[in-house]
Amino acid sequence: MSQPLSELTTIRVGGSPKHIHTASSRDELIAIAKDVWARTDNWLVLGGGSNLVAADDVSDLEVIWVRNLGVEYIGQGRVRVQAGENWSDFVIRTAKQGLAGIESLAGIPGTVGAAPIQNIGAYGQELSLTLHSLEFLDFETNEVQVLTKADCVFGYRDSIFKRGKRGIVTWVEFQFFTDLPAAHNELLEARVEEVVGLRASKGMVLDDKDHDTWSCGSFFTNPIVSESFAKTLPLDAPQWPTEADDGLTVKLSAAWLIEQAGIQKGFSLPGSNAAISTKHALAITNRGYATADEVVELARYIQTQVSNKFGINLVPEPNLIGF
Ligand SMILES: Cc1cc2nc3c(=O)[nH]c(=O)nc-3n(C[C@H](O)[C@H](O)[C@H](O)COP(=O)(O)OP(=O)(O)OC[C@H]3O[C@@H](n4cnc5c(N)ncnc54)[C@H](O)[C@@H]3O)c2cc1C
Repeated sequence: MSQPLSELTTIRVGGSPKHIHTASSRDELIAIAKDVWARTDNWLVLGGGSNLVAADDVSDLEVIWVRNLGVEYIGQGRVRVQAGENWSDFVIRTAKQGLAGIESLAGIPGTVGAAPIQNIGAYGQELSLTLHSLEFLDFETNEVQVLTKADCVFGYRDSIFKRGKRGIVTWVEFQFFTDLPAAHNELLEARVEEVVGLRASKGMVLDDKDHDTWSCGSFFTNPIVSESFAKTLPLDAPQWPTEADDGLTVKLSAAWLIEQAGIQKGFSLPGSNAAISTKHALAITNRGYATADEVVELARYIQTQVSNKFGINLVPEPNLIGF
């Protein structure tokens, strides 16, 4: 048996998979994936493990662990980054170099290769703003493709990869904004610091000693509903017109819905080691010895309470593996 996924994921649950294959270069990643795919359909691509909840029994699962590193400056704001690079380190590095466009995504855990999967976003910025293209090994065809931003069909915490295109991102290319006055380097670094501070106050920056950060970040996406449905909600329900801004759909605050459904920060089911973060109503956390089942049980309870109160089905943001 290999190392348990509880040791490789930020919410620290999950059993031992059949095998963990570590890929340290792009070519190795492609070779390992083709080999695994030829043998089984029960496989998982693992980056930093910050957006997945693996079941307590995953003994048949083969894990492809993306660890290829390298950052290549192509020029004129274009940078190619290998999928296994750490996302937050990359943000700090680019801010120092005056490359603008991802500074508000500072402090988000995980790898560069996973960032396009759900089009990571925070504080008004999304990956899709700067993503230029990426290399993708397609599970269906076994072919390597270069996909443009348009090919990825990004949306709010969404992409073509979340809607059934299975495979592996091997590298990502960014197009940064470089036409800023030099003084903006300092502003970018200041923004990174500000964002990380804000995130830390909500338990959204990993800290071994703080159980509020033993999570997958937000456990549910903010629901998008029709404008007419939104009008049926209490007047103080936070609402934002969605990206399209056509007035037809409205994004709601999942955290607000949870708290209004009677589930407060710190809540846990009797006898469970999974609990809502004491700092953020949207994060399910492991208080030390939680099982994957306890995490999922709490998630289902929250969904039921919100559905009963508002008729809204909260959609989990992390990938649930083996449930
Ligand atoms: C404390 C905390 C705060 C967070 N805050 C935010 C936030 O503000 N905004 C936000 O958007 N997210 C946030 N997240 C979620 C998470 O950090 C991101 O989704 C991140 O991009 C996941 O990266 P990862 O490498 O850990 O992916 P993993 O958890 O390893 O994998 C996530 C999914 O991507 C797939 N995957 C991973 N690597 C690849 C690859 N190379 N090719 C193809 N598929 C791949 C996996 O199979 C899995 O389905 C937060 C998480 C935590 C724990």
